[in-house]
Amino acid sequence: MEKYKIVTLPDDEPYRYWKLFDDTYVIHYGEALDIFLLLGEQKALLIDTAYGRGELPNLVEQLREGKELLVVNTHGHYDHTGGNPWFPRVHMHPNAMATADRAFGRIDPTWLANMPYPDYEKIPVDDGYVFDLGGREVEVLWTPAHCNSSLSFIDHKRRLLFSGDEFDAGQANLGAFESVGAFLKNCQRLKSREADFDFIMPNHNGCPIANVYLDDFITAALHVVDGCPDLVSFDGLPGYKQSHGGGVRVQVGNSCINYRPQGVEPKPFKMPEEK
Ligand SMILES: [Zn+2]
Repeated sequence: MEKYKIVTLPDDEPYRYWKLFDDTYVIHYGEALDIFLLLGEQKALLIDTAYGRGELPNLVEQLREGKELLVVNTHGHYDHTGGNPWFPRVHMHPNAMATADRAFGRIDPTWLANMPYPDYEKIPVDDGYVFDLGGREVEVLWTPAHCNSSLSFIDHKRRLLFSGDEFDAGQANLGAFESVGAFLKNCQRLKSREADFDFIMPNHNGCPIANVYLDDFITAALHVVDGCPDLVSFDGLPGYKQSHGGGVRVQVGNSCINYRPQGVEPKPFKMPEEK
C-alpha cells in the first residue's frame, strides 16, 4: 500500500534504483541525477531529495526497512532539495538554508501543496559532524567551491566518499575563478583522506567513480591557479557552452573543470525548462 498520495506531472521522469551494497541504495531519477539511501542498524540516511517528483516518498518508505529516517542535503540547489517538504526535518549546511526552497523555474502549485511539510525544520550540520546510523558512521566535511553550502560525506562502513556536485565524472562546475582555488584546497583535503574511501559517489553523470579522478582534478585546478590552464573546447557540448557563457573548460585526464577566467562577469544562467 502506498503511504503518500502522489500528484503526477507531465514532465515527471522515471526512477530506477539498485543496491550498491546490501545496505546501500542508489536512487536514480531521470537520466543524470542520483540520490542515496544508506541503511545502518538503527537509522537510515537519505542523501538528497532530488526534485521530489513522482514516487520519491513511497520509494524511500519502501526501502528504509522501517528504520528511523534522517535526511541531509549535499548542498542547497533545488535538484538536491526539491523533495525536502516530503520530510519533517532535513539536515543541511547553514549556507543552504536560504536557497534550499528556491526552485529553478515555475513549480506546479497543486504538486507543491500536496507535500506534507512545507515548513519542514532545517537542521544545521557542519564540518566534523558524524551521522551515527548504528554500526555505520557517516562523517561530514564542508567542501564549498561549486556551492558555498556543499557538504561531502565519508561513509566509513562502506568506504565511500559522497561528493555532491563538487565534482563528478563529467566535470566540476565552479563558476568564478576564485572558486578554483577553493576547489583545489577541498580536493587536496579529500585526497589526504583517501585511506578512508575506495570509491567516489557524485550525484550526477554516473557513480561510483574511481579515486583517481581526485588526482586529475587536483592537477587541473593547480594548473588553473598557476596560470597555465589545460584549455579544451566546449565543442560537442552545446548546452554547456550556453550555460557557461563567458566561461572556459579545462581537462586533465578524465577530469574537466568549467570556470570563468578572472574579470569575466557571469551571464544570467538559464535552466533548460526556462528556454
Ligand atoms: Zn545537482
